Amino acid sequence: MTRRTTIAALLALAVGSVAPALAQGPAHTHNPLADAPEGFFPPPLHPGGVTLHTHRLGEGVYALLSDKPPTDNAGFIVGDESVLVVDAHINPQMAQQIIDSVRRVTDKPIAFLVNTNYHGDHTFGNIAFPTSTTIIAHEATAAGMANHEVERQLMLQTVSGDTEALLGVELRLPDITFEDHLTINLGGRVVEVYHFGPGNTPGDTVVYEPATRTAWTGNLVISGSVPPMFETDAATYLKTITAFASELDVKTIIPGHGVPADGAEQLAIYQAYLGDLLTKVREQVREGHTLEQTLARVPLDDRWLPELGSPLSGIVPILRGFHRLNVKRTYDALVAKNNG
Ligand SMILES: [Zn+2]
Repeated sequence: MTRRTTIAALLALAVGSVAPALAQGPAHTHNPLADAPEGFFPPPLHPGGVTLHTHRLGEGVYALLSDKPPTDNAGFIVGDESVLVVDAHINPQMAQQIIDSVRRVTDKPIAFLVNTNYHGDHTFGNIAFPTSTTIIAHEATAAGMANHEVERQLMLQTVSGDTEALLGVELRLPDITFEDHLTINLGGRVVEVYHFGPGNTPGDTVVYEPATRTAWTGNLVISGSVPPMFETDAATYLKTITAFASELDVKTIIPGHGVPADGAEQLAIYQAYLGDLLTKVREQVREGHTLEQTLARVPLDDRWLPELGSPLSGIVPILRGFHRLNVKRTYDALVAKNNG
């Protein structure tokens, strides 16, 4: 059942409550990638020298595309009264680039910022936005953000240990959280915010602009990459992507990393990869193979790799590591299910 909530109602609820995000439940206190298999590496996300290019998708709808994938993309949507920004990037300097990009297009206030997941490359820039900006995230995203020091350590790995890349980063939690769906009115234009289920993280969020049928997908869908199954398994991820594909008729996906993609095509690729992975790992479990054997027997098929010349073709070893993690997550979940 989908609970439809308007932003006005949620804002009313949030008034006077202190850090409602923290009341949503315990944050994880460990690194969720600590048990990743050999061969897994976090992606390279150093923001040094990165420029975000403004790409117009339609009237008032803009993607901000990194010129050095896989560093993060972002975006913004302009209504008659206000602006909504998607994702805050990895540090205050990059967030300022987002704010400056908005200012080149409009002087309307940035009333809303949506974090698509809790990872620092999407949230560490929160601190640079005016206090008048209402930050919105899924309740599980807010809980993940609260575990700031663990996330800072993970982010340091993505920037080759360069502490300068995280200069000025301070935790700024969301002002309001949602459970599965929000509608935000920017004046003459409505933006929809969805949680279809866990994928890369427990609170993965999709921001959808209905006039252009554009979906910002954060880490949930990364064109040119296999699904990054950091905290779920193939069955869970597949359920989430299937819900996404059946609820929205997406023309263009702006992924958190990588290049824009055709919505239907990209979601079909993810469904095919996830279904294939689930079938293959299930077969290994049924035949009694160990995790090590399964990792060896379910390699990454070349058809899931980015095409030569694609901006992500330089990180193929990283994608192979993602796949090994995906095999392990799926294997562990199937074994746990059999034992439970
Ligand atoms: Zn990311």
